[in-house]
Amino acid sequence: MLDLAIIGGGPAGLSAGLYATRGGLKNVVMFEKGLPGGQITSSSEIENYPGIAQVISGLDFMLPWSEQCMRFGLKHAMEEVTRVSKQDDGTFLIALNGGQTHIAKSVIVCTGATPKRANFEGETEFFGRGVSTCATCDGFFYKNKEVVALGGGDTALEEALYLSHICSKVYLIHRRDTFRASPSTVEKVKNNPKIELVLNTQVKKAYGDATGLNGLIVVDAAGKERDIAVTGVFVFVGMNVNNAILKQEDGHFLCDVDENGNVIVDLAMHTSIKGLFAAGDLRTKASKQVVCAAGDGATAGIQALEYVNH
Ligand code: FAD
Ligand code: NAP
Repeated sequence: MLDLAIIGGGPAGLSAGLYATRGGLKNVVMFEKGLPGGQITSSSEIENYPGIAQVISGLDFMLPWSEQCMRFGLKHAMEEVTRVSKQDDGTFLIALNGGQTHIAKSVIVCTGATPKRANFEGETEFFGRGVSTCATCDGFFYKNKEVVALGGGDTALEEALYLSHICSKVYLIHRRDTFRASPSTVEKVKNNPKIELVLNTQVKKAYGDATGLNGLIVVDAAGKERDIAVTGVFVFVGMNVNNAILKQEDGHFLCDVDENGNVIVDLAMHTSIKGLFAAGDLRTKASKQVVCAAGDGATAGIQALEYVNH
């Protein structure tokens, strides 16, 4: 019987593990299907974590997090969790990909969210070398340069506005001529002289060389092609919430989720199910930043400690 099962080993999971083990929980396992660290390990640079003055790679940044947790007794099981369910006695059943199961008194789900890809030619090839899904993280690298923001939802339009404060020009490319974003945000974008709307347009391909991205070939509804020469493209075509492990056999989620599938939590990271907590990008209204995920994880770790002890 585990005191606590943490699912996902990104900033939220590792912080939860640190606080739970350091607070005295003995039998804590973090199920992380890969190496611990989470999405940020795919980023070449992080420079907005408070207290870290130098710019370092996401991988270098996350390495000490695991080391620190393991020192206090957190165990890492390199396993993919397929489902978490609650049993009649109040404990949780953790099912793994290989068919094994574990039982835990409490669970913190920190499986994050994955930005969707738009699936144009060259997107994967230039990902991290000009193609990004995070303006807060990478926008500064395009200071006073022209960039593309792709998408027509709240994220794309809000991030286009954010980028317009840093970059010399933002081409907002959207496949239709109406937006999903809220009308007030659309108005702000339309009134921003640094944003050019490129509507009814799809990205055909990204091109570049060994140094990175050099531009996009886009095509409009009439089939007319255009070459947009930019070194930065920000893809904002929605997020996939990694909530699949909470889906039960009957198709319902174990706990309440919002209309986008994000787990609903209160300010203490409690879900609608006692003993089940959620933290980080997976939870509703997450700011989707490392520092925020770490804060959530710490809160969830403290709450799980209290839950198990009482
Ligand atoms: P994640 O980091 O997504 O971690 C979730 C973990 O759960 C993953 O390791 C995954 O392998 C694991 N997992 C998922 N499902 C399962 C399962 N079923 N079983 C076992 N394990 C599972 N934020 C910043 O603050 N600054 C930046 O500069 C910055 N740059 C970024 C650059 C890029 C390219 C990207 C993609 C994101 C960036 N972010 C940045 C955002 C930041 O990475 C996230 O907000 C943060 O990592 C969220 O942490 P998390 O712990 O909630 O989830
Ligand atoms: P979203 O609302 O799902 O919008 C995704 C956008 O990407 C859509 O405009 C879609 O086009 C476009 N798109 C999808 N696949 C594409 C592809 N392959 N190629 C080109 N374009 C593609 O996603 P989101 O903007 O990330 O927002 C997610 C949720 O969070 C929404 O509910 C949103 O309201 C919410 N949110 C709220 C706020 C806020 O309240 N301030 C901020 C951010 C996000 P179509 O429109 O043609 O489908």
